[in-house]
Amino acid sequence: MASFLCPLASGSLGNALLVASGRTRVLVDIGLTQRRLKEALAAVGVEPGEIDAVFVTHTHRDHFSTSSAGFCLRHTIPVYASGENLAHLSDTLPAFRKLVRGGLARPMDGEAVEIGSVAVEGFDVPHDSPGWCQGFRVSLGPSRRRRSVAVATDLGHVPDDVLAWFVDATAVVIESNHDSEMLWASNRSADLIERIAGPEGHLSNEAAAEALAEIVGRSRRGRVKHVVLAHLSRDCNTPALALEAQAHLARGKAEPVRVFAARQFEPGPKIGL
Ligand SMILES: [Zn+2]
Ligand SMILES: [Zn+2]
Repeated sequence: MASFLCPLASGSLGNALLVASGRTRVLVDIGLTQRRLKEALAAVGVEPGEIDAVFVTHTHRDHFSTSSAGFCLRHTIPVYASGENLAHLSDTLPAFRKLVRGGLARPMDGEAVEIGSVAVEGFDVPHDSPGWCQGFRVSLGPSRRRRSVAVATDLGHVPDDVLAWFVDATAVVIESNHDSEMLWASNRSADLIERIAGPEGHLSNEAAAEALAEIVGRSRRGRVKHVVLAHLSRDCNTPALALEAQAHLARGKAEPVRVFAARQFEPGPKIGL
């Protein structure tokens, strides 16, 4: 499988997504211990030394932590993020300052970053992390047959300009954090529930379904082939509920979209692109 995407871990205990195109391998977020990350990569046959770059969506520790900085230092992997996010990581993680000193912390503000056979563009998404929360669109392969993966794993709502980044993507990785009924019935504090359900918190299954209906509806027929539901809450969601909310995608267009729910502790699936 020359080009593929694979969620390595997804959820509030750590996130990492692998995108491979030919010989190029990039990761979006690496909020796992070094050991877990190495094990998850091994499960899909990838060595840490093969990783060409890491792209960081935002500064919450389930996306980038001290261990993440240690992993990049150990394997000399450049880390790309918005200037604000690099500054915040540098202010709060002493290990990150070593990456800065080693020239491995690289700002991406506007221009696409080209790494081997992929090009990565960042876009802003609404989420309450210090710095600037981003999604990414990773384009793969030669321009005439270009495929792409669009990713936004933590976002409170999906504004129109964010939706536009997902239109015609071969694979869409989008948050489907909670079932609203389970969230409001949970024993979490009212403040926390309001933060999660708020416009800069996390996306519900229903909100993800609305966004996906728009994305597939606005895309050319058959263009969106895969959807990965990400960052599922372990207390306020289940993979079955998240998948059930997207049943409409199987009915809509001539070529049905394949929908997967990413897991916290099981890497996979490996999705060919
Ligand atoms: Zn998160
Ligand atoms: Zn977050």
